[in-house]
This record gives sequence, C-alpha cells and structure tokens, in this order.
Amino acid sequence: RPVQLDRIVSDSLSKMTMLAEVKHISLRAEIEPSVSIHADEERLHQLLTALLDNAVKYTPEGGSIRISCRMLSQAVQLEVEDTGIGIAAEHLPRIFDRFYRGEKARTRQEGGTGLGLAIAKWIVERHGGRIRAESKLGVGTRITVTMPYA
Ligand code: ATP
Repeated sequence: RPVQLDRIVSDSLSKMTMLAEVKHISLRAEIEPSVSIHADEERLHQLLTALLDNAVKYTPEGGSIRISCRMLSQAVQLEVEDTGIGIAAEHLPRIFDRFYRGEKARTRQEGGTGLGLAIAKWIVERHGGRIRAESKLGVGTRITVTMPYA
C-alpha cells in the first residue's frame, strides 16, 4: 500500500518535539512533499522513531537535528543528522548489531537495549532498502536510509 512519507515523518517528528525542547535541541525538517512509497506504515514509524530517538538521546543540550526526505530516481532517501557525541570509527561497523551499545550508552542510567538500530536495519532491509551511518566523534552522526519506491 502506498504510504505518504511526509505525513509519517511529521507524525514521528511531532512525538519528539517535546523531548527535543526540554533539551533545547532544534529540530529541522526538509521534507519533499507527496513522496510516497509502498511500505508498512507502522514499520516506517518505528524506523523513524528509532533514528530520531537516538539523535535526541545522543545530542547534548543546545544541539540540532535535521531530518530530510527526498526523491532519487529509483528510491527515496531519508537522512537523520545530529550534532551529537558521535561514534568512534572503530565502533561504527557494529552499531547495527543486535544488543550493541556504545560505552556512553552502557554506562548511562537511562534504559536502552541496543536493539534500536538492529530493528531499524531489519525494517529497511525488509523494504529492500539500505541503511548506513557516517559519524565523527564529538561532531555528530548522520544516518542515511534509501528505500526503493516499490
Ligand atoms: P535503544 O535502542 O534501546 O535505545 P541504544 O540506543 O543503546 O538502545 P541502538 O539504537 O541500537 O541502541 O544504538 C546502538 C549504539 O549506537 C548506541 O548505544 C550508541 O552508542 C550508538 N548510537 C546510535 N545512534 C547514535 C547517534 N545518533 N549518535 C551517537 N551514537 C549513536
């Protein structure tokens, strides 16, 4: 069933605005209108929530998060970019593994299972897409998802 991506993105974003506000993190969305793909709406929600939740969790006060959604020729590209703590190069290949959690995450009081990105990856791959992460320690992280239209 075709799903309107801009709607899903704004729904997921609106659930995060409160959390972001409390941390004085600015949220910016650049969403191309009327992008739709054949996807499971519930799963897309879960995917975006996992990415945005991480962005908010791992970005200190005063930072910013940008989410964008645009059409490529055969696929849509979603990006969630933050100015957070970043991920060291040696850990980057493992963040999509089940139960993998970074040092900062392991020692934090707040809960977390280390399943968020593993689930995100599973959802993306179920839709025939790809997910990748770029990050610089102390600078920020960008997660890029590409999913084919059909
Ligand atoms: P949960 O998913 O239960 O919230 P989690 O956030 O620890 O737990 P994942 O979402 O799977 O688990 O992420 C795995 C690890 O990747 C995290 O523990 C963290 O070290 C790192 N990570 C993920 N997203 C970011 C981000 N935006 N900035 C910095 N580190 C990140």
